[in-house]
Amino acid sequence: MHICKSINSLNKVLDSLRPYKNAGFVPTMGALHEGHLKLVEHARKENDIVICSIFVNPTQFNNPKDLEKYPRMPEKDALLLEKENCDIAFIPSSKEIYPEKDRTNYDFGEIENVMEGKFRPGHFKGVGMVVKRLFEIVKPDNAYFGLKDYQQYLVIKKLVNQFNLNVNVIGCPTVREKDGLAMSSRNLRLSEEQRKAAPIIFESLKYIKNHFSSKSIPGWKEWFKSQINRFPALDVEYIEIADAETLMPVKNSNESKNIVVCTAVFAGEIRLIDNILLKC
Ligand code: AMP
Repeated sequence: MHICKSINSLNKVLDSLRPYKNAGFVPTMGALHEGHLKLVEHARKENDIVICSIFVNPTQFNNPKDLEKYPRMPEKDALLLEKENCDIAFIPSSKEIYPEKDRTNYDFGEIENVMEGKFRPGHFKGVGMVVKRLFEIVKPDNAYFGLKDYQQYLVIKKLVNQFNLNVNVIGCPTVREKDGLAMSSRNLRLSEEQRKAAPIIFESLKYIKNHFSSKSIPGWKEWFKSQINRFPALDVEYIEIADAETLMPVKNSNESKNIVVCTAVFAGEIRLIDNILLKC
């Protein structure tokens, strides 16, 4: 596997691998786990060459403490990527990605004002900025994103439309721990008590999915908060029940064909997000 720390070296390696039919790309912020590696595996099956980037993107963090504490372990990550037969690990510096201020106007419509967008102002502009830049550098045919970050996945599809980027965006299912907790690099920072409590998030989402018709939407939102708040280690930031395409909140289950339930829960200062799709 090639490790490239600059755009120059990436371009040289890409040239040495030509001709290739298609290139698959997995953008990440590192501290890789099974969720990321499944994306690489998926890309490996569908592409001649696979590139994975590791870049902790400062423009998408609205909380400086979260950015500072974000786990970084590029050497270990490179070993994991090599095992997955990734061809290139692209590990650029901030200077490579942002040589100058990006003055592009990103507009994702209403979708960036709800849920993650509402509670993390500016977050999706930062995501848009880095993904657009990475797409321009790597020039992939296919790019793989986890549905764990469901709103992000929709934002990336909007980004590709807004700028007419020639990339297929492929969403991959959320990979979970045995007890249901969605894998996340931030899970490494959970205390024992927080880690023990955290599976209630997905358990409650699954319960809503399986019993959806038995309560009203406001009723489910209240129920979810009361379930989570039984655990002193956890605190609900939001729970939304929304149309799975527009992410606009729904008041009634018959308002939408596909509904998604999305949540963010704090475990101390660590923010855990998860979601579940309902077919109505
Ligand atoms: P991150 O490193 O957190 O920015 O994530 C990089 C990519 O991996 C994004 O497309 C995420 O949605 C995806 N991802 C992170 N965790 C999971 C998971 N548990 N299951 C599936 N995809 C994931």
